[in-house]
Amino acid sequence: SATPARRPIQDLPDELVSQIAAGEVVERPASVVRELVDNALDAGATSITVRLLAGGVRLITVEDDGCGIPREELAIALRRHATSKIRNLHDLESVATMGFRGEALAAIASVSEMSVLSRPAQQEGAYLLDARSGELRPAARNPGTTMEVKELFFSTPARRKFLKTDATELAHCVEAVRRHALTRPGVGFAIWHEGKLVEQWRATLPPRSDEAQPDNAALQQLEQRAMDKRLADVLGPDFLEQSIVVNYQAGHVQVRGRAGLPDAARSRADQQFCYVNGRFVRDKVLTHAARAAYEDVLHGHRQPVYALYISIDPMRVDVNVHPTKIEVRFRDSREVHQAVLHGVENALAAPRAQQLLDAAA
Ligand code: ADP
Ligand code: MG
Repeated sequence: SATPARRPIQDLPDELVSQIAAGEVVERPASVVRELVDNALDAGATSITVRLLAGGVRLITVEDDGCGIPREELAIALRRHATSKIRNLHDLESVATMGFRGEALAAIASVSEMSVLSRPAQQEGAYLLDARSGELRPAARNPGTTMEVKELFFSTPARRKFLKTDATELAHCVEAVRRHALTRPGVGFAIWHEGKLVEQWRATLPPRSDEAQPDNAALQQLEQRAMDKRLADVLGPDFLEQSIVVNYQAGHVQVRGRAGLPDAARSRADQQFCYVNGRFVRDKVLTHAARAAYEDVLHGHRQPVYALYISIDPMRVDVNVHPTKIEVRFRDSREVHQAVLHGVENALAAPRAQQLLDAAA
């Protein structure tokens, strides 16, 4: 057979490059919600409101009270590889923000009709930038940012066809916010769909500055209480009754959180939350370790419930593996595995756990 005629190599047009890249970042409305909430958190927001129409397919807005984007930087924020979060390779190795690739906004803008309304506190008024037309005009807003994403995948019908029902897309959006909410008790979250409030998790306020400054132990206790309140709000009030505090440190790894008692186990693995340095992750090492900790107490195909917060030196974990940043790579995964395994095992072996297990038997 004849070789096909060779065509010359050419650079792809910018817009096409963005759309191809968007395929890695934006799969469905929930991916947009996740990226925009990441950005709001990176901006130091204490209150984040998500509003959706048609499961987020027709409209997603995310409002925050964060640091805002100055007028002259609005257009830059939408460019590919434009970020305020890292400057060099050194920063990349110790990244502490949720984002750093500078890709999300460009990707989202290339597959939707997007606008940004923002005002830093020091700036006189707000400005609204329409991504498609590039039009920039004065507007009104309190300090903070509102991102608006309309008609997701309107220009790529093939991708739009892969979306599920509005109810399913909404459930994924709520799950995306839930994952954030479980690690940020100091931030208030609200989700609206079609004008109705779907979920609201109120912020736990930090101690007022006129109150006595808490010492380290008191601070830990305050944090624990704030975390417990958020866990109860998000996972239901029974979760606290049916779980044991995990607080374990081994080598470079600290594991905190709560492990559900075997009785609280579910048929689906839909309440297993793992965080690494405040970032929600799905990771085989962590899931396997947690599962192994339940080996002797959980039988059949029941799925344990847990929220585990792993802290580790940023130099010992690589979060730069995948654009959606849900995967991580540990420098010493054995050490992390052991810490999670023993942390959860110890919690389940604690006197209170034993008491509850006996009572249930
Ligand atoms: P990244 O988060 O990786 O930096 P993004 O494309 O998500 O990339 O955002 C680009 C930049 O826009 C961010 O670095 C930040 O400076 C700014 N930005 C985005 N969203 C917000 C927000 N809600 N509040 C303040 N600044 C924001
Ligand atoms: Mg981002």
